[in-house]
Amino acid sequence: MRRIGVLTSGGDSPGMNAAVRAVVRCGIDAGLEVYGIYRGYEGLLDGEIEELDRRSVGDILHRGGTILKTARSERFKTPEGLERAETVLKTFGIEGLVIIGGDGSLRGGLDLSKRGIKVMGLPGTIDNDLGYTDFTIGFDTAVNTVLEAISKIRDTSSSHERTTVIEVMGRRCGDIALYSGLAGGAEAVLIPEIKSSVNDICMKILMSANKGKEHSIIVNAEGSGISSQELVDQITEKTGRDTRLVVLSYLQRGGTPTLSDRTLATLCGAKAVKLLAEESDSRAMGTAGGIITAFDLEEALEQKREIDSELYDLVEVLSK
Ligand code: ADP
Repeated sequence: MRRIGVLTSGGDSPGMNAAVRAVVRCGIDAGLEVYGIYRGYEGLLDGEIEELDRRSVGDILHRGGTILKTARSERFKTPEGLERAETVLKTFGIEGLVIIGGDGSLRGGLDLSKRGIKVMGLPGTIDNDLGYTDFTIGFDTAVNTVLEAISKIRDTSSSHERTTVIEVMGRRCGDIALYSGLAGGAEAVLIPEIKSSVNDICMKILMSANKGKEHSIIVNAEGSGISSQELVDQITEKTGRDTRLVVLSYLQRGGTPTLSDRTLATLCGAKAVKLLAEESDSRAMGTAGGIITAFDLEEALEQKREIDSELYDLVEVLSK
């Protein structure tokens, strides 16, 4: 292995830059030439590729987003697109690839690996929706952003004795809602994996208010099955209390990465390069019990993400 490429793909997440930096610097240290591929698979198909040196990734460790840019690519998913991607990589003499992205991006990486390219996948997504790793790069930062918002909303909700519904990201995976609800002291969290009763939530809001609680924070994952506006309307009607909606949206994707995300990104990047230098088969980097793991890429993607129902129950107990 002489020349490797690195790309970021799908939704961006804080820590992607830290991963790119680690790949470039560890790669050069291992005697490899490292090429940056811009705009994910779209840029790969268009040959938007250039060599990166140590300085080109200076001053990015602390920056959210991705200097390589990111994109979604419908073209890449077609047989012709995949063929073209392989041709471009061959033209540039790139034999190994580090792909930083979510489930879709890593599946694209798996397709490339089946064409003989060594692919190392890094879990770059705020959603924490990959089954093979305890945490993904960007999740910790996103949850901290939500916690900051909850704390500010709590201040004003107390003053006005309001209920606030906070909508967070998570179309299929409720981890952002679950962890921010747990650590932020929410009255209830609604997640895609477990059906909630709005009636029970309303009863809880009223009972808490009777006991002197000044505010209620409800965290709704966007894929919970009930739209946040509908939730606000139902709570307003059933409790008769002033209820407001805050949609955090893309705020959750930005910001300087936390210690956890920088560390995870850096260690996964370093491991990916080490494996490529050793000519290892394609793998997916992640973390389990605080240790960096590198599972077979195909097997990793077969692992189903399960919600931690004990955490969910704990939110219930703590907010009674
Ligand atoms: P994420 O990586 O954040 O999950 P997407 O699902 O949008 O984001 O995937 C990013 C890109 O990866 C897509 O635009 C597409 O080019 C590629 N991709 C997504 N799903 C697949 C798949 N099942 N097989 C092959 N490539 C895929």
